[in-house]
Amino acid sequence: MISRDPKDTDLVSRAYEFSRTAHGDQKRYSGDAYFIHPAEVGYTLAAAHMGAVMIAAGLLHDTIEDAGVKREVMKEQFGAEVLALVEGVTKLGTLRYHGVERHTESLRKLFAATAKDIRVLIIKLFDRLHNARTLEHVPVPEKRARIALETLEIYAPIADRLGMSVLKQDLEDAAFPYAHPKDYEKTRELLKERKNENEKRLEKTEKDLKREFADAGIRDFRAEARVKGVYSLFRKLERKQWDIDKIYDILALRIIFPSMADCYTALGIIHGHWRPVPGKIKDYIANPKPNGYQSIHTTIYTGDGGALEIQLRTEAMHQEALYGIASHLSYKEMQQQKVPGGKRVGLEWVKQFFPSMSKDHKGSNALISRADKKQLVPDWLHQLAHAEPSSESSEQYLDTLKSDFFSHRIFVFTPENDAIDMPIEATPIDFAYAVHSDLGDTMAGARVNGKMVAIATPLKNGDVVEIITKPSAKPSRKWLDIAKTNMAKRHIRATLAALEAKKR
Ligand code: MN
Repeated sequence: MISRDPKDTDLVSRAYEFSRTAHGDQKRYSGDAYFIHPAEVGYTLAAAHMGAVMIAAGLLHDTIEDAGVKREVMKEQFGAEVLALVEGVTKLGTLRYHGVERHTESLRKLFAATAKDIRVLIIKLFDRLHNARTLEHVPVPEKRARIALETLEIYAPIADRLGMSVLKQDLEDAAFPYAHPKDYEKTRELLKERKNENEKRLEKTEKDLKREFADAGIRDFRAEARVKGVYSLFRKLERKQWDIDKIYDILALRIIFPSMADCYTALGIIHGHWRPVPGKIKDYIANPKPNGYQSIHTTIYTGDGGALEIQLRTEAMHQEALYGIASHLSYKEMQQQKVPGGKRVGLEWVKQFFPSMSKDHKGSNALISRADKKQLVPDWLHQLAHAEPSSESSEQYLDTLKSDFFSHRIFVFTPENDAIDMPIEATPIDFAYAVHSDLGDTMAGARVNGKMVAIATPLKNGDVVEIITKPSAKPSRKWLDIAKTNMAKRHIRATLAALEAKKR
């Protein structure tokens, strides 16, 4: 059922051992072995159905930065692709943050643009997930809060944009208690009050629904409870003036069918038996959400004074809804490596080796103790998961997503690694004025990635730009034709006018 490519297993298990040795006796804040962190990143990547190259890069992601591994060594041992991914993740880690509130939007774009390979971004998200899950060990409260806020404001929205809803919820719920402690407590209290009532309602409806389906001859489906994340509930409570009675999807019933037609048939049966709440029927199958999400949602009055949301979808829609772009990526890797298609493995599969996975970080503790018992290659590495094609338009989906992310803006860096958000075709003149008007007014030349260039040279995404100044330098008229941004043109005009006035 699960495809096994010996080359995949070999790559990942070598990365696992290499990382363990490289991190040696380094420790985390928690006092745990540092290696727990990359091991958890590799592990969660595997659990999210990513392929061997990404899992290996996840295991190795901190070895250049924190363990002093040379890039040549990594290239020789693991190849150029793994090296490029690890370097990408390392580079993202050196970016500076200037307060999340003000820069959230540009940082989101920055992440997207800097990580030219979307896989870098995904590894970074899983890196952050483990760091968010271990926030309790971070000793400085301000740092804890900053990491938590960044996670909520930047990382979780990126996961959402990539359609990775499991990852998004995990990021949010790990960070929420540290970003907004009071709101977290308040939300949890409210949730606790309703827990029993909600669970009973779900169980009863599920039983009735199964009977209705059986009467109609529908037997091929599975049902599961979907628990709303605490942070997501908090956001909704804010919109509903904290009236929890107005929120019907704290628990939702999710039903997964073999075909799309089944979903519509089921909707008919459900509405024939329960009265739907007006305005709550949403057909995201016919009209998918911008991130690709598909399902039919309806909320029904359950007859006990309450209501319940039901979500109907096919297996392919389900996988896409949980793992988003990841399901497309693993499909791509499968094609490239010509691995015979295997059935997608669920979390259940991973759980048989790591019973406590996902909701806490004990998974990798289990992993470590296994390794210590000389069982050097964890079992899950032997059976790397590969996805089934979830839709024919995967390539197209990826392309759209990429162009959406990367087409409008570029991000250029100062020698200190501060990121400047610029339009495409921007020049060193625009860059200088974007940093500071004085820098533009005294600009005598520019170095891009260490080389002198003409000041009209269009900048590219990721360029490091150094402006060379001279006290005697001043802007010229020609600059007005070269500059692309209004900000630069405005400054140039003002300075030229001031110089004219002085002459007279
Ligand atoms: Mn890390």
